[in-house]
Amino acid sequence: MPESPQLHVIIVGAGLAGLTAALILAPHHRVTVYERGGPDVATGGQGIIVAPNGVKILQGIGFEPARAGAVPIRGIRTYGRDGVLLEDVDMDLKQRFGADSWAIKRGDFRGVLGQMVAEAAKGEGMVEIVYGSGVVGVECDRGVVELEGGEKVKGDVVIVADGVHSRLRNTILKSNEYKAKKTGLTCYRIAVSTEDASVALGDLPPPHWWDPSNSQNNSALIFADDGSPRFITAYPIRNAEMFNLSCILRTDESTKTTAESWHADGDRNEMIETFSDFGEQVKRILSAATEVKVWELQDLEPLPTWTSGRVMLIGDAAHAMSPLQGQGANMSIEDAESLRLLTPDTRPEDVLELLKLAESVRRPRTAQVLAQTRASHSKFATVGERLTANLDFNCGYDGIHDALARQKAAAK
Ligand SMILES: Cc1cc2nc3c(=O)[nH]c(=O)nc-3n(C[C@H](O)[C@H](O)[C@H](O)COP(=O)(O)OP(=O)(O)OC[C@H]3O[C@@H](n4cnc5c(N)ncnc54)[C@H](O)[C@@H]3O)c2cc1C
Repeated sequence: MPESPQLHVIIVGAGLAGLTAALILAPHHRVTVYERGGPDVATGGQGIIVAPNGVKILQGIGFEPARAGAVPIRGIRTYGRDGVLLEDVDMDLKQRFGADSWAIKRGDFRGVLGQMVAEAAKGEGMVEIVYGSGVVGVECDRGVVELEGGEKVKGDVVIVADGVHSRLRNTILKSNEYKAKKTGLTCYRIAVSTEDASVALGDLPPPHWWDPSNSQNNSALIFADDGSPRFITAYPIRNAEMFNLSCILRTDESTKTTAESWHADGDRNEMIETFSDFGEQVKRILSAATEVKVWELQDLEPLPTWTSGRVMLIGDAAHAMSPLQGQGANMSIEDAESLRLLTPDTRPEDVLELLKLAESVRRPRTAQVLAQTRASHSKFATVGERLTANLDFNCGYDGIHDALARQKAAAK
């Protein structure tokens, strides 16, 4: 436990952003995380790719990839729907940015972050996650949150990380107009074990992108390649014992399924039908999924501010974006890292200025990543181009102190 914690930080939401923020802050401050769900909330979800910009931050807080079965991803291959390899892009990430990407099952990722918070609580950190405790209101100037039961709790700082459908965003923005909107793309999300897939494949050989001797350390994009915006992103997760498959299509081309929740069930037959021309092997692999989720890809217009008084928005609540550049979770990790500005000697009266300083880096950066992600929606043709065009900008980020130093140098 820190000798004399300076600040009481309240975090709303124990998702990837909230938990990472707790780990950044716990060594120096008293941190209370309020999560509306139970300990197993939001453990669902299929794969997530953490890019070098996120990986370096996680490494810095002691996240061990092996605990989450993370698979290093070094390149991207694109295929036509007939399974023919079109493009093989070695992104050389470690050499260029100092870290590979990690492919992780989202639930495993969140689970390890939760365990790390519990370990910090037993060790040096003064941190607690209060499950089953939704926050229904916030008084920004005083730093007070109101819990579902009516109890009010005061903090010196309130970090709002309550996800894409944030309940508190509008209070911070003093407006009801900011809501995530559909992008027109829909994603069936499945995770299939290699064992189940090989049973489903039977006497058929695995496709090149699935074959463990080829696929490991690569993510694959399999395109309809017929002008229709349909593609499947596939990559190994959980020590390559499973594959994540995100099957993306334009919503107006999907027959009926629309859903706003992460937990919405997708129609297996509809998914298989949509990608039926991708070949028999793909059809069999899709049919081996034990759970099919459907996700209407949404994003949020850049917000005019993230802060109000002692309160700051981070994560999807601040900048939800589609996964087409794989940067949503990474931006959330970067936001959490920016809270390093709340150093051990920060006094309650310094908080407003420091939150504004963090926002001065985070808000423009995430707006640019959002714009680049939106631009990529209409450019499905060459993936190598799409994914590597912004690589330096996306993966070259080196934390809040480096970003502020660059900002200062640019202003001279
Ligand atoms: C169930 C689920 C599955 C997902 N699956 C995928 C996937 O397959 N692929 C992918 O790329 N991304 C997925 N995501 C999104 C990805 O995790 C996020 O984009 C990203 O990590 C941003 O994290 P976040 O912490 O801002 O938000 P989230 O991870 O959404 O976390 C928000 C947290 O806040 C809690 N919360 C909400 N309101 C309140 C409240 N009023 N009081 C207290 N707590 C509250 C929620 O219960 C949740 O735990 C998923 C998210 C969820 C929740």
